[in-house]
Amino acid sequence: MIEKILIANRGEVALRVLRACKEMGIKTVAVHSTADANLKHVLLADESVCIGPPSSTDSYLNIPAIIAAAEITDAEAIHPGYGFLSENADFAERVEESGFAFIGPKAETIRIMGDKVSAIRAMKASGVPTVPGSGGPLGADDAENHRMAKEIGYPLIIKASGGGGGRGMRVVHTEANLIKAIQLTKSEAGNFFGNPEVYMEKFLENPRHIEVQVLADGQGNAVHLGERDCSMQRRHQKVVEEAPAFGITEAQRNEIGEACVKACIAINYRGAGTFEFLYENGRFYFIEMNTRLQVEHCVSEMVTGVDLVKEQIKVAMGIPLKLKQQNIKVTGHAIECRVNAENPAKNFMPSPGTIEHLHLPGGLGVRWDSHIYSGYSVPPHYDSMIGKLICFGSDRQTAIQRMNCALGEIIIKGIDTNIHLQREIMNDGGFCEGGRNIHYLEERLEHLV
Ligand code: ADP
Repeated sequence: MIEKILIANRGEVALRVLRACKEMGIKTVAVHSTADANLKHVLLADESVCIGPPSSTDSYLNIPAIIAAAEITDAEAIHPGYGFLSENADFAERVEESGFAFIGPKAETIRIMGDKVSAIRAMKASGVPTVPGSGGPLGADDAENHRMAKEIGYPLIIKASGGGGGRGMRVVHTEANLIKAIQLTKSEAGNFFGNPEVYMEKFLENPRHIEVQVLADGQGNAVHLGERDCSMQRRHQKVVEEAPAFGITEAQRNEIGEACVKACIAINYRGAGTFEFLYENGRFYFIEMNTRLQVEHCVSEMVTGVDLVKEQIKVAMGIPLKLKQQNIKVTGHAIECRVNAENPAKNFMPSPGTIEHLHLPGGLGVRWDSHIYSGYSVPPHYDSMIGKLICFGSDRQTAIQRMNCALGEIIIKGIDTNIHLQREIMNDGGFCEGGRNIHYLEERLEHLV
């Protein structure tokens, strides 16, 4: 049994983890930078430890400081949240070597999934559909690369095996540009990621982003909790997410879900995870697996009734998964709007500062996951997301209407936010119709902002 958990994160996700711990009767340790002493979860935690100055490198990414905080407070487990160290295999390894439970998969799993080529290989081996491509790193033989490219068909995308955060990718439209693109991506990949390995795959021109949530216990049991559609993106950042995905049938959900479950068992996955797919012309194409909790996990919670963070903690305690696939039902529809401290009318410029007045929405099916409060100062050092508004309804239209009303009730004074833009999206004809692709929001932005 775990009696005390250190939360190695900040903001809304740290509060999300703290709430799950409190409900389970588990004590909490908050770690924070000097800029974050007044974070809501720091004030609510049983103990708190300052781990460094505002810069993330010196605080939330500072592995020795976090391990030391766990040691001095006698915590037994560490929850990494999302972002920061959550997908750092070295961190997971250090946590376990130091005698703490890491609330996430084993370091070796994070490592395999962190490398795109090895992740694709693992997926192929267990029958998860992948993008047609080289399937492995590209060699130096130009003729062979040309042959392979022709076979896959243009347009292609050259991707760095060690890439992440939307970097290390290059689209190739014609044969004449292939070799140059491979060379450029290789040298960038070497510089950015310390790994020059690149591979090629078919470039899908108008896909949607659909991902599957899984839970596994590392003891041979795994389930999926249906899919989410996260196609509303700006610069590869998700803006609105929903579950289930528009137009996906139960048969499709079961088929892709079962493939992900099979993969979890094959790689002996432990914890919560997400299989990300591009979806085009009725087919799923695996792009990557996130080996952690995701920002948008709440929409899956709302349509399945499963508390993902509690499940993560139970798995870390070594308790076998009690959830059975046949008992997980996707009911109704949930939408999440990310609320950011930024000004869409000023090129999305971040807007840190003090929240002078805060009024929050409520009512049936309205969930607000956020650490902000009246008088709280949003620091300039971190991500601009200050909260998530999640609305649940019996169907997609009800959820959209509810979201529209709830967004209209929020008052945040003192800083700029993207709430107006989110309302515009909820009233946008294309969004309301459903099924729009990953380019839709950027194309609409000039009309919406
Ligand atoms: P990262 O780890 O950097 O986020 P991903 O492999 O998840 O990289 O890809 C990020 C984004 O790049 C995808 O969400 C998609 O928009 C685009 N992308 C990646 N691979 C392809 C592809 N084969 N075809 C079209 N777009 C792609």
